[in-house]
Amino acid sequence: MKRIAIIGGGIAGLSAAWYLERARQSGADLDWVLLEKSDRLGGVIQTERRDGFVLEAGPDSFLSIKPDAARLCTELGLAGELISSNDAERKTYILVKGRLVPIPHGLEFMVPTRVWPMVMTPLFSLQTKLRMGLELFLSRRTDAGDESVDEFVRRHFGREMVDRVAEPLLAGVYGGNAEKLSIRAVLPRFAEMENTSGSLVRATLKAKAKAKAGTKPPPLFSSLRNGMQQMVDALANALPRSSLRLRQANLQVRPSGDGWQVECGGNQEKFRAVMLAVPAPAAAAALRQVPPALVEGLKRIEYTSSVAVALAYQSAALPPGHGFLVPRTEGRKIMACTFVHKKFSHRAPEGTRLLRCFFSSSRMPELLRHSDEDFAAMARQELEAILGLNAQPIFTRTFRSERAMAQYETGHLDRVAAMEKIIGQMPGLFIIGNSFHGIGVPDCIKSARLAVEQITSDACQPAAV
Ligand SMILES: Cc1cc2nc3c(=O)[nH]c(=O)nc-3n(C[C@H](O)[C@H](O)[C@H](O)COP(=O)(O)OP(=O)(O)OC[C@H]3O[C@@H](n4cnc5c(N)ncnc54)[C@H](O)[C@@H]3O)c2cc1C
Repeated sequence: MKRIAIIGGGIAGLSAAWYLERARQSGADLDWVLLEKSDRLGGVIQTERRDGFVLEAGPDSFLSIKPDAARLCTELGLAGELISSNDAERKTYILVKGRLVPIPHGLEFMVPTRVWPMVMTPLFSLQTKLRMGLELFLSRRTDAGDESVDEFVRRHFGREMVDRVAEPLLAGVYGGNAEKLSIRAVLPRFAEMENTSGSLVRATLKAKAKAKAGTKPPPLFSSLRNGMQQMVDALANALPRSSLRLRQANLQVRPSGDGWQVECGGNQEKFRAVMLAVPAPAAAAALRQVPPALVEGLKRIEYTSSVAVALAYQSAALPPGHGFLVPRTEGRKIMACTFVHKKFSHRAPEGTRLLRCFFSSSRMPELLRHSDEDFAAMARQELEAILGLNAQPIFTRTFRSERAMAQYETGHLDRVAAMEKIIGQMPGLFIIGNSFHGIGVPDCIKSARLAVEQITSDACQPAAV
């Protein structure tokens, strides 16, 4: 029988366990065990309920266009629990010189696709609006190397588009910095468009014309009625308890014969395969006797920390829409705020308001030194300054995610390819989760699914351990 160790019980590790368990129940001759450092499963996914409000510590949803998360929910019997973002009421604001300006209709991420809303919007200066028109005439790029999102967007639309749109939008996803993030790793679709068409406007318009002939696009985001934790709970309930081991600190993983040895608290166990489903620095710290280039490559992947403050209100006057983003150039502490009760149904009692404010170590390097009370006070000050909101919240709740957001910096994909080459020479070792190929929940689930497919495929049936 093949024994497999999964290290880490976030969504990647739990998904790996789910797919291995399904293979086992379908007759595959394997067994698995999941080893989690902390006393709970789910990793950054954690939902709390308080006074009828649904509070998310980490992800509040996933991109509907990436199928792995919704598919997993369906496999878990949660299809009826899936909910969609209220896209009809979607409106997002950018803070510009202290004023909230809505992102104009027809701006697809940073690519303008409609003329009139671009002409009318106060979001951009006349110079940027002219740059948008000239972008149509850009020719294909012959040197297709990687570059930062900042450089890429600046070449197409100028500095203002970086500062007012690309940087705040990406900060909302990665909690990072557009000057460091790799265009090929974080916005591969745009890098591809440039390679094939030159102009992003032309390529986007062409893609939209093609899509029109097809079906209605899915909602932008999906989530679960009772919060993202529902997925974690369903996974934990579907898996054999005896295979889920919590409080497994200081694990060490080393090659041993034709398999892998995992050591924990003096106990040593042998496995045919090990799936590391932990952040890259934790994987680097666990690995022993592997090529130093792999360990160095893993350590090289930076992670930022973030803090989310939930504020529940009996009532509050807010502009319509789903929230606002704050460009770095505004010089504020807050990075973004979601109007949670608007983005999704089932998140707050009728008539009440639930806001979620984000702070990141990429803007506040000393982030985690502040207390929960400091963050609650900071969030209230920022909301008062930006929205004029000075109502007393029913409660506030601060959640911290320490070094949880992987930053795919320029050259990331080349460094990953080099690491994957090394890993390819060490049968039975898998790195899954958010280190390499996408930090979204669906990406992490996909990484687990693909690794399990490799483990269970006939082509690479390893010797039993
Ligand atoms: C605040 C925040 C908001 C986000 N919002 C969204 C969103 O809206 N949509 C979206 O798609 N994505 C979002 N993401 C990203 C996404 O949630 C994560 O990338 C994804 O959940 C990571 O899953 P994972 O299993 O790879 O890692 P994690 O969730 O980090 O889990 C890793 C697990 O490994 C354990 N571990 C660590 N070291 C060891 C060790 N040495 N031994 C054993 N166990 C160990 C940890 O305790 C943890 O349980 C967000 C992330 C954060 C932090």
